[in-house]
Amino acid sequence: MANHKEHLLYGAAAGAAVYLIDYNLSGREFSVAEFIGAALSGLVAAKLPDLIEPAVHPNHRSTFHSVTFSTTALPVAWQWTRGKREEHLKLADKYTSLAAQAVSEQEKTMWRQKAFWHKVAAGVLLGMVPGYASHLLADALTPKSLPLFG
Ligand SMILES: [Zn+2]
Repeated sequence: MANHKEHLLYGAAAGAAVYLIDYNLSGREFSVAEFIGAALSGLVAAKLPDLIEPAVHPNHRSTFHSVTFSTTALPVAWQWTRGKREEHLKLADKYTSLAAQAVSEQEKTMWRQKAFWHKVAAGVLLGMVPGYASHLLADALTPKSLPLFG
């Protein structure tokens, strides 16, 4: 059974990996803010299944660990987070160009900070579902595997 630390590690790796794939496909500039955001949210999201259904007995895996949940709710959540991510990326781009046009250092810094936080948010949104999914995948590969419904 994947232990707590392994789940966190897999979650962070899943978030980071999905960011790297997205970065390669999108042609956007590499963003440390997005990368860190995706890895951290992957790590946190990988804790969720066992926070909702704590491993207090061998059959703790229920609805939120189920095959049905992974194949219905996760794709919906993925679509939603992708949409929200696009909104944050657009805002980040807008503030980045405003920073480039800024007349004072103070104004430039303000727009850059706004762009930075929207990139963090875009990364966080990207890493959530892969982090959660990494937990279920790790659990699925154990002898107990995942319940069909819960
Ligand atoms: Zn679990």
